[in-house]
Amino acid sequence: MSVPLTNKDSFSNAVKQLQEMTNPCTLCPRQCKTHRSKGRIGFCGIADLPKVSSAGPHFGEEPVLVGPGGSGTIFFAGCNLGCVFCQNYDISHLHQGREINVEQLSELMLDLQSQQCSNINLVTPTHLAAPIAEAILTAKNKALTLPIVYNTGGYDSVNTLELLEGLIDIYMPDMKYSDSRVSKKFSDAPDYPEINKAAVKEMHRQVGDLKVTNGIAERGLLVRHLVLPDDLAGSFEIIDFLAEKISPHTFINVMDQYRPCYKARQFPEINRRGDTEQIERVIQYAVEKALNVIT
Ligand code: SF4
Repeated sequence: MSVPLTNKDSFSNAVKQLQEMTNPCTLCPRQCKTHRSKGRIGFCGIADLPKVSSAGPHFGEEPVLVGPGGSGTIFFAGCNLGCVFCQNYDISHLHQGREINVEQLSELMLDLQSQQCSNINLVTPTHLAAPIAEAILTAKNKALTLPIVYNTGGYDSVNTLELLEGLIDIYMPDMKYSDSRVSKKFSDAPDYPEINKAAVKEMHRQVGDLKVTNGIAERGLLVRHLVLPDDLAGSFEIIDFLAEKISPHTFINVMDQYRPCYKARQFPEINRRGDTEQIERVIQYAVEKALNVIT
């Protein structure tokens, strides 16, 4: 169950600040400064209203998020990263989805709760932090009690995250890369490693280590890491960072499902699947560092 909101004025104030940060837009590290309320778009490709590509109970997420009713996922179109191997490129880069307003988004959350989902899982929320925060507030005022999962690519500004404190129960960021040359080449984000580390630190400050009760996550940090061919993701450095700078009790999902999608075929070094031995070495290393490894 989500933590109840105690100081509603401060959350309303946070929503206002997030709205201001959207016009001109400085919500994420791209700092596009576009006026999204005027219908203009920046790197993420979405104006100020959310575009939802799908919503419903999802049973393919980490078991601690699923439970008997599934994870109540809401997939948002658009993305502030430019990953050339994106598996959801039709949503992220082609922006397929239906535009909805804040009231409709809050109703969607309540509908997922009525379907007995274990949580509300917001997929790719970073560029929509303002309407999402407002919708959470609206839904909580109408008895939404499920934990809110912020399922992000991990390219998040600390300033924006600070304004979400108390609204998000579970942060689930990717940690994609530890080398800026690689993040520049494959996601058009040379500063990803430093931004990502600062964001994960802030997320952990807010919610702490993941707390799991009766097999279901209630609150905390759950990191996702996709292993890329030839250790291009810098997996071992990411594990060291989590163990030494965040917490030795961090939950990490070491994902082995890399396959070339979208534009990956144009890059020989990632135009193949990851190899099983390398993935095993990453998992073993995380286990040796005593992290809570989910595979
Ligand atoms: S949220 Fe979108 S428009 Fe705003 S700074 Fe980021 S990429 Fe640019």
